[in-house]
Amino acid sequence: MDLKFGHFRLRQKSRLLFNSDGIVDLSARSFDILVLLLTKPDQVIEKAALFDAVWPNLQVEENTLQVHISALRKALGADMITTVHGRGYKYSGPLPVAVPEDLDPDNPGEQSAEHLRPLLDLSGGRKVPVTGGCLCGKVRYVVTEAPIDTNFCHCRMCQRFSGAPVTAGSTYRAGAVQFTNGAPKYYRSSPFAERGFCENCGSSLTYRPVEPPVTANWADWILIYTPTLDNPDPNAPTWHLGVESQVPWLRIQDDNKRVRCQDSPDLVEAWAAFNLPVP
Ligand SMILES: [Zn+2]
Ligand SMILES: [Zn+2]
Repeated sequence: MDLKFGHFRLRQKSRLLFNSDGIVDLSARSFDILVLLLTKPDQVIEKAALFDAVWPNLQVEENTLQVHISALRKALGADMITTVHGRGYKYSGPLPVAVPEDLDPDNPGEQSAEHLRPLLDLSGGRKVPVTGGCLCGKVRYVVTEAPIDTNFCHCRMCQRFSGAPVTAGSTYRAGAVQFTNGAPKYYRSSPFAERGFCENCGSSLTYRPVEPPVTANWADWILIYTPTLDNPDPNAPTWHLGVESQVPWLRIQDDNKRVRCQDSPDLVEAWAAFNLPVP
C-alpha cells in the first residue's frame, strides 16, 4: 500500500516520496523515520524507539536524529512534525490514508511527473533512486536517465579541480540531472566550459558547457563527477582522457582506450571555435 497525506504520496515498495512536482529527495534514514511517524499520527514516538527502529544495534549521536528531523521538516513543511520536548517527535500533518499502489508506474505522483521519474539503482538488490551530492550535503541531485558516457580524465585541469590524480566522470543529458537541494557554484575554467562545486564544502561536482553553446556538440549535457554519486559502483569508466598528464605513479590496469586531450575530437572542436589549439 502507498500512503497519501496532504499533497504527498509515500510509495513503500519503491521507498520514494512524491509531492505534486515529483520525487522528494530524502535519505534512506529520513525515509525510515517518516514511515515510523506516519504509522502513529498524532502520537509521540519516543526517541529511543526511533533510534531502535532506524539504527538497530548502533550507537548513534543524539543530534543525528535532529539532522534527519530537520531534513524531513524541510521536505514536508515545518509544522508536519512536532517536537515533544524531552520525549520525542510526533507527526501532526494531515491524516495519512492507505491507498493502493499506483497501477501506472510511469505516473507515480498526483500529477504526472514523467520528467522526474528516477532512474533506479538496483545494484544493491534494493530499489533506490539514483542520487548524489557533495561532502557536506548542501548540494544534492537526482539522476533520471542512464549516463551517455563514463570516463576517467587525467588532464591537469581535472587534477587541480579535484585534488586527485585522476577523476571519473559520468556524462548525462542535461535534463536528466536535477538539483534537489542547493546548486553548485560554477567556475569558468575554459572559454567553453565551467566546473561546478559546493560553495560550502568545496566538493568538485560537475563539468558542463557554457551558455550559449560554442558548437552543437557542446550543449545539453552535464558531467557529474562519478564519486559524488551515492553509489558510484555501477558507473565504471569506459575510457581514459588526458593520458598525456597521467601521473607516473598511478597504474590503472584496464584495457580501455587511452586518448590524449589533443587527440580528442570534442576538445579540438571546442578550442578551434576560439581559433586555439588544445593547450
Ligand atoms: Zn557541500
Ligand atoms: Zn579533465
